[in-house]
Amino acid sequence: MVCRPIPQMDSLVIFDNQFVRELPGDPSQDPRPRQVLGSFYSRVQPVSPSHPSRLAVSKEVAELLDMEPAFVDSESFVLAFSGHTLLQGMEPFAMCYGGHQFGHWAGQLGDGRAINLGEVINARGERWMLQLKGAGPTPYSRHADGFAVLRSSVREFLCSEAMHHLGVPTTRALSLIATGDWVVRDMFYDGRPRREPGAIVCRVAPTFVRFGNFEIFAARNDIDHLRRLIEYVIRTDFPELGVPTPDAMGQWFEDICRRTAIMIVHWMRVGFVHGVMNTDNMSILGQTIDYGPYGWLEDYDPSWTPNTTDAEGRRYCYGQQPQIAYWNLGQLANAIHPVLQNEHWIQRGMEAYVQELQYQWNASMASKMGLANWRDEDSELLDGLLEFLRSAEIDMTWFYRLLATYPVQPDSESPASGGGSDPRTHFHYAFYRPDDELDAAIPRLSDWLLRYQRRVQEDGTPDLVRLQQMNCVNPKYVLRNYLAQQAIDAAEQGDPKEIERLLDVLRLPYDDQPHNERYAQKRPEWARHRPGCSMLSCSS
Ligand code: AMP
Ligand code: MG
Repeated sequence: MVCRPIPQMDSLVIFDNQFVRELPGDPSQDPRPRQVLGSFYSRVQPVSPSHPSRLAVSKEVAELLDMEPAFVDSESFVLAFSGHTLLQGMEPFAMCYGGHQFGHWAGQLGDGRAINLGEVINARGERWMLQLKGAGPTPYSRHADGFAVLRSSVREFLCSEAMHHLGVPTTRALSLIATGDWVVRDMFYDGRPRREPGAIVCRVAPTFVRFGNFEIFAARNDIDHLRRLIEYVIRTDFPELGVPTPDAMGQWFEDICRRTAIMIVHWMRVGFVHGVMNTDNMSILGQTIDYGPYGWLEDYDPSWTPNTTDAEGRRYCYGQQPQIAYWNLGQLANAIHPVLQNEHWIQRGMEAYVQELQYQWNASMASKMGLANWRDEDSELLDGLLEFLRSAEIDMTWFYRLLATYPVQPDSESPASGGGSDPRTHFHYAFYRPDDELDAAIPRLSDWLLRYQRRVQEDGTPDLVRLQQMNCVNPKYVLRNYLAQQAIDAAEQGDPKEIERLLDVLRLPYDDQPHNERYAQKRPEWARHRPGCSMLSCSS
């Protein structure tokens, strides 16, 4: 069924679709999968779902878009953001991009299950692109169907909002809507497909342009389109750089490198593992994009990857993320080089990434430990800490929260809850296998705590102040893999309320929320090997 425009509600913002207005699209209307040459996008129509129903909405994103609460609560909202109906001014399209997947050039990829609806400019003058994920096939769907299943849509909706509330640069999610239709998926690619409920997330970001949008034109030696895209993105998304002169382009690449470094350090700080850092999943704005087989580090294991497809090579494991981002920036550099034609700027950008990453990492780790600032000699203290965390199964999130309440100042009024200054009692809860590992770990931990104590005493930070500062950077509530799975299980059983309940908790990730202690619990044993909680595939 083809979508019909409905009259715009008074309360709704106006669309200003600069991307399709300024850049040429695909002249063909053929909806079948194909190679699309010399075009930035193809116009498409979302598929109208059978029985769309609201599962969750992010009120902050609705506010960002200046949507009236009455509209957000209305049936029109559900129809518009499930692909059933087009609001006046929407001009749906799918973008053409390519990408390197797992280190290899994959050719044309494109929005295979994402459909951009259009751009709105809010009262603050900010431009936001609205995009449905899972609203049906496009010329870029290759051999897949263009739909998304409930489990992956719940995961994307919750995680993008959780990341925002954690202070991590990310695309946002406005809504999560069930389609009422079935989607067939072979979850672990093991020949056992099953029917799953379908759902659609409306994602929101200033732009969804990725490294791969530049790579596709470079790979096709289409320098004219490559240049147009670079100039467009600088003018639209990096206006502070002014007219896109060659120097501005160099500065632009350096900016992307710095933003990417900042994003990666945030990921490391909160324990986020993207899981599939292909170049088509790298936003040009340095925002986290494309929440697929991501996961949250539980016990501190830098080699951990949530993605079953990556289990062998571990290319995208937690500890590799800084190096992979660098590699991806190298691919972007190769792609834009024919237009920039300036080795110096490319080199500068890549070096800026390394510097920024180091600077942000040091600053981030100093604040995670509650140090007033980073000193070069702190690297020994930090190495000792990370080595300790690796030596046993220790929950990263809990460890830092417990470190914050560990008293280190002499005569301090201990802010410690419960355990006092006996490391064994104090850090017990962070251990996944205390019976097997606590005895061996305590001497190493005590030794490290002594060094830590000396260092904090040099700063002279009172324990209570340190506690407050550390709790602003070390979250208590993260979207633990098992929590997302529980919300999915409930939604699949027809109870979507847990999704918004969880979102509510994740809105204040750094606060102690006495009524929500259970959401802070470390991974229960039943979740250790359960699909969805410890392993995920790309199938969505
Ligand atoms: P991802 O692994 O999500 O980054 O996807 C890689 C490429 O596969 C992108 O071009 C996606 O649009 C496409 N893709 C993934 N899942 C689907 C699907 N269900 N239908 C159509 N295209 C898909
Ligand atoms: Mg992708």
